[in-house]
Amino acid sequence: MTAESVLPLATPAYLLNLNEPQRRAVEQLDGPLLVLAGAGTGKTRVLTSRLVHILATRRAWPSQILAVTFTNKAAAQMKDRVGAMIGREVGGEGQSGGPGGGWWLGTFHSLAARILRRHAEHAGLKTNFTILDADDQVRLVKQLLKAEHIDDKRWPARIVTLMIERWKDRGLTPDKVPAGEGGEAANGKAVEIYAQYQERLKTLNAADFGDLLLHNLTIFQTRPDVLAEYHERFKYILVDEYQDTNVSQYLWLRLLAQARKNLCCVGDDDQSIYGWRGAEVGNILRFEKDFPGAQVIRLEENYRSTGHILGAAAGLIAHNRGRLGKTLWTSAGSGDKVQVRAVWDGEAEARWVGEEIETLQRGSSGQKGQALGQMAVLVRAGFQTREFEDRFITLGLKYRVIGGPRFYEREEIRDAVAYLRVTAQPDDDLAFERIVNKPKRGLGDATLQTLHRLARAENISLVAAGRRLVESDELKPQARSSLRRLLDDFARWQMTLTGAAGGDETHVADLAKTILDESGYTAMWQAERTPDAPGRLENLKELIGALEEFGTLTAFLEHISLVMENAEGPPGDMISLMTLHSAKGLEFDTVFLPGWEEGLLPHPRAVEEKGDAGLEEERRLAHVGLTRARRRAYVSFAANRRIHNLWQSSIPSRFVSELASEHVEVHSDAGLWGGSTTGFAEDVDIFVPEHKRVRSTDIRGVAHPFTSTPRKGPERPYDVGTRVFHQKFGYGRVVAAEAGKLDIEFDKAGRKKVMDSFVAPA
Ligand code: ATP
Ligand code: MG
Repeated sequence: MTAESVLPLATPAYLLNLNEPQRRAVEQLDGPLLVLAGAGTGKTRVLTSRLVHILATRRAWPSQILAVTFTNKAAAQMKDRVGAMIGREVGGEGQSGGPGGGWWLGTFHSLAARILRRHAEHAGLKTNFTILDADDQVRLVKQLLKAEHIDDKRWPARIVTLMIERWKDRGLTPDKVPAGEGGEAANGKAVEIYAQYQERLKTLNAADFGDLLLHNLTIFQTRPDVLAEYHERFKYILVDEYQDTNVSQYLWLRLLAQARKNLCCVGDDDQSIYGWRGAEVGNILRFEKDFPGAQVIRLEENYRSTGHILGAAAGLIAHNRGRLGKTLWTSAGSGDKVQVRAVWDGEAEARWVGEEIETLQRGSSGQKGQALGQMAVLVRAGFQTREFEDRFITLGLKYRVIGGPRFYEREEIRDAVAYLRVTAQPDDDLAFERIVNKPKRGLGDATLQTLHRLARAENISLVAAGRRLVESDELKPQARSSLRRLLDDFARWQMTLTGAAGGDETHVADLAKTILDESGYTAMWQAERTPDAPGRLENLKELIGALEEFGTLTAFLEHISLVMENAEGPPGDMISLMTLHSAKGLEFDTVFLPGWEEGLLPHPRAVEEKGDAGLEEERRLAHVGLTRARRRAYVSFAANRRIHNLWQSSIPSRFVSELASEHVEVHSDAGLWGGSTTGFAEDVDIFVPEHKRVRSTDIRGVAHPFTSTPRKGPERPYDVGTRVFHQKFGYGRVVAAEAGKLDIEFDKAGRKKVMDSFVAPA
């Protein structure tokens, strides 16, 4: 039998819908393969088609393919696309995926969590371990700092938590952190705190997000038999958005792929936007070295965007120095130019976006109205969504916030989940602490301190300590009986839960309702007279409703930990509002990109902390935003912006001027920046005409359009020592100031005298 005869006689549709290099990337199944290509060139399409091809040629069962994506949303999208191609639904864990169980398609975190559950004992955990959220992490670190008498004003728990996270991103357990890396942090004890933190997590039978991968690495490294099991299982490994993998994810992939080497990664160095979270573009460059003989396929035709959008984006990204450089072209025609608009302030911006959306929705003469689902507003910082949300509510436009203030982060949901967590896993001290006195039951700080003291001394959990305490006279009689009642309640609920697992009729949703009622938690909100109380009760109902979709409590709790990462709203025709970071991999007909101002995009913190590298990452972020657009892109910036309740006058982002000029159309609200469409330097030699390839790397620098138009200076003078930003010289510090003139020591350009109206506070 020849290889071909395995395939159906006619070439299947999923192969016909590919261009030549894409098809090569799909059909080249054996050995390591890297697809390195720009936005919208079909990398994700290649990955899904490849998965389908593996199945169609019967090279592997679904359960033998490890497919990794970055966000839950991307994973859901991939499941949909594969499902559409194979004509049936793609399941998760537990659903049939051939021998050995379900599909292995998901995010790094969800897949690693699944592996860890199977081998928890090798990481010192029990299978029912809890996954902690950011809140819990910080709380735990805070406790440890306190026990070490470290001043948490000087060393906030949040900072120490962040250091721990970064070490985990790099695959470093406490013993592997290079000497001296902790520096002064936490009085020089940062690494020690990290070690204690890991110990505490084990006692709590809990793991944080970083641990999911870190424990996997430890298990794979110390238990060759376990690793061998996964080598045997995963015949093929597929990875999307490879440019954003951090070191620990990278090591995880390398360990899993090292036996068969059937690893296919797709990515784009120009879209790497998670450097701040430990992602390393270097992983892309290292691929060929780590996997000798790796094939590299480049895709150059962009199927997503029209010519002007592509051209504008190419002009922008060409300003980055650290890039591999690539050619992109489209046969889609040039389409509409990118609309650039200057507005007075954030409110005017939201009003304008609202108007544009309504116009698009209505449609114009001969043109069909556009669906809201095909429109997105992509912001740099979370707080920016509020203004749009308000506006959309006023206009009655439906919208969803993706990855925003999420359901599971609401107070009442966290509380309810804490009750469930303790029921599922009595050692979960953090959850127990959260609800021990909520509703108030006379178990205040004093009781809690006693509990803690005993728990620490005996190295047992709070619940276990409580059981001992109620048998003693340590507590006041009232607190003692109250604590006894609570512990008895938990014991009873736990029994019901075990009974339910054993086939009893009691469904976990019913149990959850019982818990919230019997604990007095529901009653607490019913008694509350505040305007938000009814909404909170509705949320609790919603939570119980959600539980019904899950078989087990553990599965539900794990789901919650994982969706917290990036939640999706309800279905329906709605505008999507999200940060640029969450927009990765997505596409919309129309994309609004508000707030392109210095001090917002690029975000000053990124530039402060990482200098040029930070600035380049911000530029990639802007580039990711633009390349989400299929047909229309709107960029806007405001002259005044209220940031954290302070009004600031702002200047347009340098990225605005870096958009290749012939691809943009500039508009301005009356009186702002002269509102001219000129001003863009004419020496830009990129254009992406139809059917023509132009190298985007050929673009030369473009002058800033607005430097010649002095904006109104800020009301206050600049003090010596102030950090400022200047359009031409970049960031610097004021060293002298006199009547409208400043002496500035610039980070890059050295010392210069400049007009104070040409700088902005950085
Ligand atoms: P990003 O870098 O933004 O993640 P990508 O490279 O993953 O982009 P896809 O999302 O796979 O790109 O594809 C972009 C769009 O182009 C999708 O709508 C996809 O269906 C379409 N597309 C990709 N390849 C082809 C093709 N050969 N023919 C027609 N349409 C295609
Ligand atoms: Mg993609």
